[in-house]
Amino acid sequence: MTSDLPIHPRARRRLEAIVASRNWAPAYLLAGSAGSGLEAAAAWLANAILCTDAEPPCGRCLACRQVADHNHPDLARFAPAEAKRKSGRDGPIDVIRRMIAHLAIRPTAGSRQVVLLAKVDELKPAAANALLKTLEEPPGGAVLILTVRNPTALLPTIVSRCQEVRLPLPDEAAPPAGGGGDGRTEGEARLHARVAAAQIGEAARLEPERLAAEWKVCSEVWRLLVNGDPGAVIAWIDQAVKGRDAALTGWLAALGLWLRDGMLLATGLPEEALCFPEITRHLPAADRPPATFFEEAADHLLTAHRRLNANGQAKLVVGELLLTLQRDLAVARGGGYHGPPPHVAAGRGR
Ligand SMILES: [Zn+2]
Repeated sequence: MTSDLPIHPRARRRLEAIVASRNWAPAYLLAGSAGSGLEAAAAWLANAILCTDAEPPCGRCLACRQVADHNHPDLARFAPAEAKRKSGRDGPIDVIRRMIAHLAIRPTAGSRQVVLLAKVDELKPAAANALLKTLEEPPGGAVLILTVRNPTALLPTIVSRCQEVRLPLPDEAAPPAGGGGDGRTEGEARLHARVAAAQIGEAARLEPERLAAEWKVCSEVWRLLVNGDPGAVIAWIDQAVKGRDAALTGWLAALGLWLRDGMLLATGLPEEALCFPEITRHLPAADRPPATFFEEAADHLLTAHRRLNANGQAKLVVGELLLTLQRDLAVARGGGYHGPPPHVAAGRGR
């Protein structure tokens, strides 16, 4: 079925299982970097959903032929991120509105509409938010297939409404024995391939050694958050932030990876999808915050990034971020929080 699809075998098995079940999710999120076969995989899935044969996609039925000829009446493509706002019309949000209006039309040929939605990770939050309700419950059993290069750039609320299929690069699962041939260890090569495949923004630009070091810092900070003492967090920030505002971006990138891995774990996704499988030691199943904690934490992290980019004072911004995470973590673990509000506590001792 997928034999001519140029994608990683793991993603291929995943897609075949989805199609074999015929139990369509309202929305799929296909994530992969250049060379992963992302667009081909999305088109294949759309074709399989529309095919009327017992073994989709058969390539022979009317629906399959219409898909191949780009004239299936129930298949539409939208690229809101590519829309340029001209004279107040046709910006990304207008394209999303058009898509929603399109979905309100009954399917013409088959039993449902299928919509391909490209580059959702490049949408600004306002446009992405316009998608949320439709993602949750597309009208008429329609199926949306979103494609992204950088899933970490997505609002967590979008990720959580989609069934995610990662398309690893071919070298991700099988790093060359003995490392990458350039003096890197096998572990470093594997880490680098994973991060590169996930295209995790800042993190992908860091050297593996540096990223691993920043990740270790994250695990120290996580211990402080779990311990629940705001004073210890403030003391850590005092010594960490001093004179290294520029280095903070690397650490925040690693924290983004940490939260993402945590969310994947909390939603029960396979450990092989993690960038740092060691995180399972820090987040044992018996004592793991729910996915909603990680979703909200990722939102707080985005806010912190924005404030730092707007020249917010690093100590205050990071302080408020960590104290907010500490408070939310305490609440998520059912312990309650009795400290001062994060923005008040973060402003202390300056
Ligand atoms: Zn067919």
